[in-house]
Amino acid sequence: MSDIRVRFAPSPTGVLHLGGARTALFNWLWARHNGGKFLLRIEDTDRQRSTAASTRAITDALAWLGMDWDEDPVFQSQRLSAHKAALDTLIEQQRVYKCYCTPEDRAAMREQAIKAGRTTQYDGRCDGKPDDPDKPFVWRFRMPTSGETVFDDLVMGRIVTANEELEDLVIARSDGSPLYNFAVVVDDAAMGITQVIRGKDHLTNTPKQIRIYEGLGLKVPAFGHLPLILGLSKRLRSAGIESYREQGYLPEAVNNYIVRLGWSHGDQEIFSPEALVAAFDLGDVNRSEGTLNLEKMTWTNHQHIQACDSTRLARLTAPFLEALGIAVDPGDPKLTGAIASRRTKSKTLRELADGICFYFLQDAAVPLDEKAVAKHLTDDAKAHLEALASALEGLEPWSEDSVSDAIKAFCTQRSIKLKHVAQPCRVALTGSETGPGLFEMMAVLGRDATITRLRRAAQEQ
Ligand code: GLU
Repeated sequence: MSDIRVRFAPSPTGVLHLGGARTALFNWLWARHNGGKFLLRIEDTDRQRSTAASTRAITDALAWLGMDWDEDPVFQSQRLSAHKAALDTLIEQQRVYKCYCTPEDRAAMREQAIKAGRTTQYDGRCDGKPDDPDKPFVWRFRMPTSGETVFDDLVMGRIVTANEELEDLVIARSDGSPLYNFAVVVDDAAMGITQVIRGKDHLTNTPKQIRIYEGLGLKVPAFGHLPLILGLSKRLRSAGIESYREQGYLPEAVNNYIVRLGWSHGDQEIFSPEALVAAFDLGDVNRSEGTLNLEKMTWTNHQHIQACDSTRLARLTAPFLEALGIAVDPGDPKLTGAIASRRTKSKTLRELADGICFYFLQDAAVPLDEKAVAKHLTDDAKAHLEALASALEGLEPWSEDSVSDAIKAFCTQRSIKLKHVAQPCRVALTGSETGPGLFEMMAVLGRDATITRLRRAAQEQ
């Protein structure tokens, strides 16, 4: 057991997107790789925008992705007294001052600064002002005005910020309720976080937070900032992880794909969940941005569908069949057989369900594709199908091999080639020109359904 403690700290104002899921995953993998702890903190201090439904959506998505968290989740909104206590410490030590500037004052200050060619930071004008009990105020944390704030980012390397670029930061409202940078520091310290791993969009917050740690006399954790994900359209940016689940992605495929958007391990592309935990190293995270490529994501999913244990694959496919109106027990051997005949062609669970639903339809209800019928169910073909149905009637046992032998013997006897019956058979059984291998398909479908469907096609007008 190591002393590594990392966290994922989502704001519950929407669903879990790919970017958030990747941040969570890097933290989770790092904790699991090292035998450390992965903690969850729900940053719900924005009471207007935070919802319980969003918290639920985020935790459900993490659970679906297999990211289990240690300890009870921390709700930031319940830590107000700790935030206030920390603010009191800073007040006592005179690290903060009351700022009475209104938004209009700030706008005017900014305008003047631009005119004078100065930086637009807050100029500290309220620092040292006497208290004015009648005026509303916020608490500003005093930043150093010279020197540098330096830290060695676990991903980005050494980050140096000139302190004159750090403006005195508003950290709390007059009622003591904290703003983001302050609450994060107080909570990360209280949770004993050793490494803060988050998106690069937070990189500019880090020097400010380091100063607050120091102001509070707290140990500064290590920081690692992850490269952003490019290529996200507006639609993809707002899509939650559940939409990938609904499209038929496997959780391990989503994880495998998103981890590769910012991390590499030689040129290995496909990782089982266990292999990922074993191989993951924060030191291998790339500094450069990754670009989302849905085709590659689908390819990754295809690979994981091939590697998936067949019992689990049946369990995962059953709900997709149900959505097509087909109720099937995940333990039904016909389902396992159907999946085995079609998985190599399926890039998603949805595609797999679409590709095998014909097996489970009522024989008379299999929709026959008009074009396929016109092309393949010629009079000759229909005569072959009728005769083949009769030839297969007494076949014992009914298996892929016995069906294959019987059909080949049937062709020899009628001096026709296999192709003269193969496509008509396929249309008869599946309703379309595509489908699994003929003999395997017949074996899975069973004798009765095969013969009924062959006869039905033979009688097609
Ligand atoms: N709640 C912040 C966010 O959702 C994350 C804070 C952090 O990781 O420091 O962006």
